[in-house]
Amino acid sequence: MVEIWDNVIALALLKGYYEAGLIFIEVYIMKVAIIGTGYVGLPTGVGLAELGNEVFCVDKMEEKICALNAGELTLYEDGLEELFKKNVQNGRLTFTTNMAKAVIGADVVLLAVGTPPHPVTKEADLQYIYAAAEELAQYLDGYTVVATKSTVPVGTGDEIEAIVRKVNPQADVDVISLPEFLREGFAIHDFFHPDRIVVGANSKKACKVMQKLYAPFVGKTEFLWVKRKSSEAIKYASNAFLAMKIHYINEMADFCENSGADIHEVAKGMGMDSRIGSKFLNAGPGYGGSCFPKDTNAMAQMGRKYGVRLNLIETTIAKNDERKKEMAERVISKIKNNPQGKIAVLGLAFKGGTDDCRESPAMDILREMLEHSSNISVFDPKAMANAEKLLGARVTYAKDAYEACENAEIMVILTEWEDFKNLDLKRIRGLMKAHKIVDLRNMLQAEEVKKSGFEYSCIGMNS
Ligand code: NAD
Repeated sequence: MVEIWDNVIALALLKGYYEAGLIFIEVYIMKVAIIGTGYVGLPTGVGLAELGNEVFCVDKMEEKICALNAGELTLYEDGLEELFKKNVQNGRLTFTTNMAKAVIGADVVLLAVGTPPHPVTKEADLQYIYAAAEELAQYLDGYTVVATKSTVPVGTGDEIEAIVRKVNPQADVDVISLPEFLREGFAIHDFFHPDRIVVGANSKKACKVMQKLYAPFVGKTEFLWVKRKSSEAIKYASNAFLAMKIHYINEMADFCENSGADIHEVAKGMGMDSRIGSKFLNAGPGYGGSCFPKDTNAMAQMGRKYGVRLNLIETTIAKNDERKKEMAERVISKIKNNPQGKIAVLGLAFKGGTDDCRESPAMDILREMLEHSSNISVFDPKAMANAEKLLGARVTYAKDAYEACENAEIMVILTEWEDFKNLDLKRIRGLMKAHKIVDLRNMLQAEEVKKSGFEYSCIGMNS
């Protein structure tokens, strides 16, 4: 962050000298329009404004734009609020439903709308991308780079380009792929410290514009300049690989449970091999979130389209779905003698650090548990509002972990919030009716929990 700040200050100084007519120098302050103000668009907009650009974030959801214009964030991300407020105040960040205002005169237009799975085919549904491309094309003026940040199937750049050229044949435009690799919960950190920036462009002129936009990252991160289609494929290939890695460690966890090995020790030993790496080796209840489930499905569909059966990915998808059912069964089996016993669920978001419940394993596991129990109390530090939209009145919503545990027979941890590592187990023991903990994220220390008088089970250890 500090180094990027140095760049920003340097750019600002140069701009000042330039405006004062003291020097003639090309400054890289651009007008950027971002279409879609969700988990990708909003942090990206805030980050680009922080780097000194003039950013216009567009969304078609009026209530979202109204809230943002009223200074209210529409999603939770660590570190977002401070930068959001600062850049709105200094006038570099504007929110609008007006596409023309954002796109006219923009150097770069970033497409960051959703590409959800089609409910039947599970292919990426591109209707939002195409609608946005059609709308923005009318307002292009001067040379503009339209960059797709949304995760889109290989060849979508060709389709976007065809739409743009059909709507506005005179437009001086290049369409490129600029896949997004940020992690929800770390979006601001990842914006300023990306592992790599991949640019898929078939035009040198567009690459030059991207070099300028990302000038503050030169020398600090790896750039990869590839063909547009390769760039689109890199995003899916990466997400599918990470999903497979999670599935693999979950299978190893099952193996450890039956064989007497300990998944913590096994994962640590594996991760020390630089060819494997230590990340994504946390065994748990299965992957989820708005990206891995939809992107693995879309990749499998793309494989079929191009006549390649992607067996590893297809198995991963099927086994990950099964796993969530198995996890719910684990919990239910622990209270089979008292099916009306209260279940306390801690964690609803698909992972710690976010309020996002889309495709959260916690939601799938809860839905399975609700088939067997109507007495479930839930708590999540950030995701209560989003969970309520999905679960409605079928569960009760506690104000904290302790209220959720009052009179519970069993406590279940479903999301890896750091706060859950520091629960006052003695207090919880006093609140609960029976003393069972199922920790599907391995957040607690087994020995400590058992010493506190709980029957404890976790993932990948014969506890
Ligand atoms: P999101 O649903 O949070 O946000 C998308 C936004 O686009 C919504 O606010 C929606 O109202 C808006 N929108 C849709 N059509 C529009 C239009 N025509 N004009 C203006 N606004 C429009 O989605 P997200 O999680 O930010 O994901 C966006 C894309 O980025 C997806 O393709 C996703 O796969 C990809 N991606 C997401 C993540 C992540 O962590 N969420 C990471 C990498 C890539």
